[in-house]
Amino acid sequence: MSKCKFCGKDAGFLRSAHKDCEDVFEKGRAEVEDLLFASARGKLSLSIADADIKNVVRDSYIDETTYHQSVVKCFEQAIDMALSDDLLSEEEETCLDNYMD
Ligand SMILES: [Zn+2]
Repeated sequence: MSKCKFCGKDAGFLRSAHKDCEDVFEKGRAEVEDLLFASARGKLSLSIADADIKNVVRDSYIDETTYHQSVVKCFEQAIDMALSDDLLSEEEETCLDNYMD
C-alpha cells in the first residue's frame, strides 16, 4: 500500500494518489494561477486575490513549492504581456514589487 501524495491516506496498490485528490489539486492550481495572473495584471486587488488564493491553497493540497512555481509562471507571463502591450504601468509595477518581496 502506498500513501496518496495529496491527502496522505492509503491510495491503494501501486498508486501514488487518489484520482479525486489529483483533480482537486489541478483545479485548485488553475484557480490560483488565474487569481495570480489577474492581480499581476492589476485587474484584481492584491488583498482580495491574496485572501482567495489562501483559501484555495488550503483546500487543494497545494504545497509551498507548487505555489511558488505558479507565482513565478504567472508573473513571467504578466511581465511578458505588459512589456508587449506597452511599458509597465505604475500599478503593475507596484503589484509585482509586492509579490517579489
Ligand atoms: Zn488522496
